[in-house]
Amino acid sequence: LGARINGALQALSKASVIDEKAVDALLREVCSALLESDVNVMLVQKMRQNVKKRVNMDELASSANKRKVIQNAVFEELCGLVDPGVQPWKPQKGKQNVIMFVGLQGSGKTTSCTKLAVYYKRKGMKVGLVCADTFRAGAFDQLKQNASRAHVPFYGDYSETDPVQIAIEGVAQFKKSKFDLIIVDTSGRHKQEAELFAEMEQIAAAVKPNNTIFVMDGTIGQAADSQARAFKESVDIGSIIITKMDGHAKGGGAISAVAATGSPIEFIGTGEHMHDLDKFSARPFISKLLGMGDISGLVETVQDMHMEKNEDMMKNLAKGVFTLKDMRDQLQTIMNMGPLNKIMGMMPGMSPDMMKGFDADESTRRLRSYMCVFDSMTELELNSDGKMFEEESRLRRVARGSGVRLVEIQALLYQHKQFGQIVKKMGGPKGMLSKMNPNA
Ligand code: GDP
Ligand code: MG
Repeated sequence: LGARINGALQALSKASVIDEKAVDALLREVCSALLESDVNVMLVQKMRQNVKKRVNMDELASSANKRKVIQNAVFEELCGLVDPGVQPWKPQKGKQNVIMFVGLQGSGKTTSCTKLAVYYKRKGMKVGLVCADTFRAGAFDQLKQNASRAHVPFYGDYSETDPVQIAIEGVAQFKKSKFDLIIVDTSGRHKQEAELFAEMEQIAAAVKPNNTIFVMDGTIGQAADSQARAFKESVDIGSIIITKMDGHAKGGGAISAVAATGSPIEFIGTGEHMHDLDKFSARPFISKLLGMGDISGLVETVQDMHMEKNEDMMKNLAKGVFTLKDMRDQLQTIMNMGPLNKIMGMMPGMSPDMMKGFDADESTRRLRSYMCVFDSMTELELNSDGKMFEEESRLRRVARGSGVRLVEIQALLYQHKQFGQIVKKMGGPKGMLSKMNPNA
């Protein structure tokens, strides 16, 4: 999709006369690309009309920057499609918040429950998971396994067959122990069946969730619209998580889900790992959909940033190597530079996601704690790719030494590993990183 829309926008930039015909041609191209990307037909029509309304031809004729005007109109309209203008519900620490997950079987509920638990645990909340899925054999074992790996307390019952009963008991137990956040995982069916919706309604009535999160598989294409509608009719959807956006998901389904429910997407799932949960926001999502957030931008930014100070690291990167020490040095540079979140996304090895959902103070605190983690590592560990921390005892030693929670260190190592993989792919004698000359 990105390539096609970019192509259309570029064609527009080259067209010498920007008249109604040129705009129509661009819109036709954009619309067929959106349809190809599984965006709902009605929505595509609407966006086309809105762009035409937004772009006033007479004003355009006198405007010095015609192309920009049209490009912006398309971009803004697309952003509007995934932004319902409502803020997602947020749990408050110190209260016993309950979140219920709904969605079809295989959509990624259980996985996303764990990811969300980890996300709020990192924010300092006491989080518990309840398995109210008695429909699928092995559902409890799956949640139990995920939860233990994430060190999150969980509740389930092999002998109880009534999911409503389990939900009631699990929530009550965690509430009694003053948990801040209780996440209830429910079952799904393959189809949007009556029994599924009845069960969801019963669980909702029994535990009275503060928020219901609808989980949708991002790869289901045109089915997204009717699926989201069906769920919206029987439960009060607060927010949405779109999963499997790491693969070849086209993104159109996400747009349909928002349009059908009027609810905001809060997160997207970008992998099977418990840290693969990204905060959603419309503009970066659309930029990515349009192919604007590509890696070449990153390389340019790096060159702009006088990286000579980090010459050793640049040499490493060019070789396809990214050590923990490289990461530490990057963080150090960032700490000395200010407006954290902004800079974060521009540095090789750092991701804006690392601080996702954290305000400036929290981010600074977190960076300091990362420095404590590095201080607790040996020289051997710092110069490594981090794999040796698969040894739990090593991890625990660093956690003890730094006073930083295990889950936080795991997140740091995961972030490091992610970038390490990119460096490996892009580095080496033939890789694009090897063309970056730190002395240039
Ligand atoms: P549930 O039936 O709704 O509870 O779905 P599960 O959580 O069991 O997930 C179904 C499958 O999708 C599992 O194999 C997950 O590992 C996988 N999955 C879930 N979320 C993601 C994601 O964001 N990316 C990828 N690649 N796989 C995911
Ligand atoms: Mg499940």
